[in-house]
Amino acid sequence: MASPEKYLIAGNWKMNGTLASLSMIDELMKGVSSRDLQRQDIMLCPPFTLLSRLIDKTATLPFLIGAQDCHMQEKGAHTGDISAAMLRDLGTDAVIVGHSERRADHGETNEIVQAKAESAHAHDLTAIICIGETLDQREAGQTLAVVSDQLTGSMPALCTAANTVIAYEPVWAIGTGKVPSNDDIALVHQNLREILTSRLGEEGERIHLLYGGSVKGSNAADILSIEHVNGALVGGASLTAKDFLAIIKSVPEL
Ligand code: PEP
Repeated sequence: MASPEKYLIAGNWKMNGTLASLSMIDELMKGVSSRDLQRQDIMLCPPFTLLSRLIDKTATLPFLIGAQDCHMQEKGAHTGDISAAMLRDLGTDAVIVGHSERRADHGETNEIVQAKAESAHAHDLTAIICIGETLDQREAGQTLAVVSDQLTGSMPALCTAANTVIAYEPVWAIGTGKVPSNDDIALVHQNLREILTSRLGEEGERIHLLYGGSVKGSNAADILSIEHVNGALVGGASLTAKDFLAIIKSVPEL
């Protein structure tokens, strides 16, 4: 899994991509250098339809592969769902749970997200747990209360740096081109770190805290230099090798 000593740059393709999109892996490989890989782990999270092909294509390449969701149960009568056991069976490394689009589109609560993360852990997948406030919540001064509540409500009791990544993604920053100020990101990440260390001690210090929301080549270096920002979850700018490489190249020295 992702090394706690490096940055983690994860691309969430969302509901984008067909077989033709896999050619971007060749372009990415041409651009990624050993210097880049010393600083960061790179993860790609394609839609379910591309997972198997992408895992095969990257078998000898230095990319981690994640899914975008899993069911909380291992198997059964859940038409259209995919379990963590199935993802692990394919060779998937990680799974995003609780993305704000799933919380909004599918009514996923903290309890559901926690159960999904537990299932991911049980099947040897890293759970990338997403949290973040809406614009209304931010404007009402509730950001820290909301994200603290989401973090404590969505995290399984026994999280480690190997099996858990937390992604702070303000809902209003996703896909909008808007990004909080560095001070605002620093405040939230500091708060999240305190919760993690008070719950998990030293292990909580090592858990990756990603920022997500309109990260691109032009702002990545700035965002990644903020204390307690250990990487980025990237949506739109992970869809082309050119845009994703611009972020990869911006990752600071460790
Ligand atoms: C996301 O969906 O996780 C995300 C951060 O999207 P974008 O980078 O496009 O804002």
